[in-house]
Amino acid sequence: MGADGKVRVRFAPSPTGALHIGGAHTALFNWLWARRTGGSFILRIEDTDRERSTAEYERTIMDGMRWLGLDWDEGPDKGGDHGPYRQSERMDGYREAAMALVRSDRAYMDGRAVIFRVPSGENILLDDVIYGAINVASEKSSVNQDGSVKDIVLIKSDGMPTYNFAVVVDDHSMGVTCVIRGEDHIANTPKQILIYRALGWETPQFAHLPMILGSDKKKLSKRHGATSVFEYSDMGYLPDAVFNFLALLGWTPGGGVEIFGRELAARAFELSNVTKKPAVFDTDKLNYVNQEHLKAMSPAARREAVEPFWRDLGLRYERHPREYTENALTLMGGRGRTTRELAEYSDYFVDFEPVKSRYDASETDGPHRGTLREFFGALYDKFGTSGWEAAKLEEFAREWCGENGVSLKEIAMPMRLALSGRKVSPGVFEMAGLMGGEECRARLSYYQFV
Ligand code: GLU
Repeated sequence: MGADGKVRVRFAPSPTGALHIGGAHTALFNWLWARRTGGSFILRIEDTDRERSTAEYERTIMDGMRWLGLDWDEGPDKGGDHGPYRQSERMDGYREAAMALVRSDRAYMDGRAVIFRVPSGENILLDDVIYGAINVASEKSSVNQDGSVKDIVLIKSDGMPTYNFAVVVDDHSMGVTCVIRGEDHIANTPKQILIYRALGWETPQFAHLPMILGSDKKKLSKRHGATSVFEYSDMGYLPDAVFNFLALLGWTPGGGVEIFGRELAARAFELSNVTKKPAVFDTDKLNYVNQEHLKAMSPAARREAVEPFWRDLGLRYERHPREYTENALTLMGGRGRTTRELAEYSDYFVDFEPVKSRYDASETDGPHRGTLREFFGALYDKFGTSGWEAAKLEEFAREWCGENGVSLKEIAMPMRLALSGRKVSPGVFEMAGLMGGEECRARLSYYQFV
């Protein structure tokens, strides 16, 4: 606990690339713990690698966090009582702590570098909230290839602190109470604990998150495809769904609940319930979660999510009233796993052009064109072009078919194809009711059905 008993956690990305899945996962679990406990979530930029760090990456990492809805309480853009929040601006603190270790003879100078003497005969207990107790003999915490003890560089000869040193100084001086990060840092933790001890500082809690595996059960990496969260945005995954899916990599709210939002997660999250079992990044699961979120959205939010993908497809959705496109998406009845798919599947509601480009008359084995022309003629005689209502259209069609000895399917299939260019769609009369008599006539007449 912090001085006032409050939890303080941090996400500490190096700005050497975009926010990738592993980083987003770590950020999300820190955010959850801060929100669950009413604590603070700190964003610290670890930019001591001056060659690879850029301001642009720092921005995209922040944008990625904002996209996922992971807001932070202290950070380089926000300030806070424990700044600065970029390591490159905290050099004095590192030098001061290093000099204290030299004075107490726990470290020595080698040229401009400062090196920590790894003690022997000490037991290091890492009591990890997620992994449990891990004991390491101090002389095993940092070893050369041949197994001999290797002293730990604190400050390199160029004056820059190493990761293991800067992270200790910062976590201590920022009052971090719990270090939540990827399991790849477990091996670093005993070294960090030794440095805390030598400085006479209390160690924070540590909670290492489970490894994320690709579908081939190998550690998730670039080889597995998309890594940046924005690539998921481009593919048509909703931020709420990616949030939900990432939270499921190591945690569930229990009770069989799999689909949830930030609020529920922030209320139910328990750090000690996170599993250390490696979590598999399963795209089918992501698709399922995304589809469920798409279904649960309000019509207006769903339309807003789909519009950029219609635009990408060159479809002029702005020509329609919003209510029309919202109803069209509602009629899609949960079809489409991603927003991109939903936009593709519903393209005919927006524009006739895609229908023309895929229309294939050979796919209908309906009745002779004459019968269809008779049917649509009677339909327009009865309804004209206004006041088209799905139920009335269907009732009329059933009666007409009954009287003329034609099966409803023989009418519905060619009609569906002429209106949508697809063999699968929502109910054809619902579709026609929504499109309206004018638009349907334009399409039906293009194929000479009226
Ligand atoms: N900058 C480190 C990383 O991105 C932070 C690790 C930590 O959280 O201690 O891996």
